[in-house]
Amino acid sequence: MHELGIAAEIQKIVTEALEKNAITTRVILIRLDIGEMRQLVPDALEFCFAGITKGSQLEGAQFEITTISLSGTCEGCGTAAVVNEPPFICPECGSRKLKIEKGFELAVKSFEVADD
Ligand SMILES: [Zn+2]
Repeated sequence: MHELGIAAEIQKIVTEALEKNAITTRVILIRLDIGEMRQLVPDALEFCFAGITKGSQLEGAQFEITTISLSGTCEGCGTAAVVNEPPFICPECGSRKLKIEKGFELAVKSFEVADD
C-alpha cells in the first residue's frame, strides 16, 4: 500500500511548513503535483491521509491533485516527447535514449488553512 508512504510524506511536508510559519489553524486544502508514474489511487491516498492525521491540524484536509504526464527529451534527436508507458521510445527517431524528466513528481504545491 504505497499510498500510506505518500500520505506520510505529505503530512511531514505540510506539518513542517506549519511549524516554520507558526500556523496553528486547521488545514483545509492541500494542492499536490503528482506524476502519473506514481500510479496513485486518489481515494486510497485520502483514506490513508485521513487515518494518520486524525486529531491533528491536518484532519479533514481535502486534496486537489494535478496529475503530471510522463514526458522527457530524446538524447538522440532532442525531441521533447510525451510518452505513455515503458519501453520509452522516441516517437521521432525511435531511439530508446529518452531522458525522462516529468512523471515522477510528488510535490506539495501549496495549501490553505482555515481563517480561525
Ligand atoms: Zn529521438
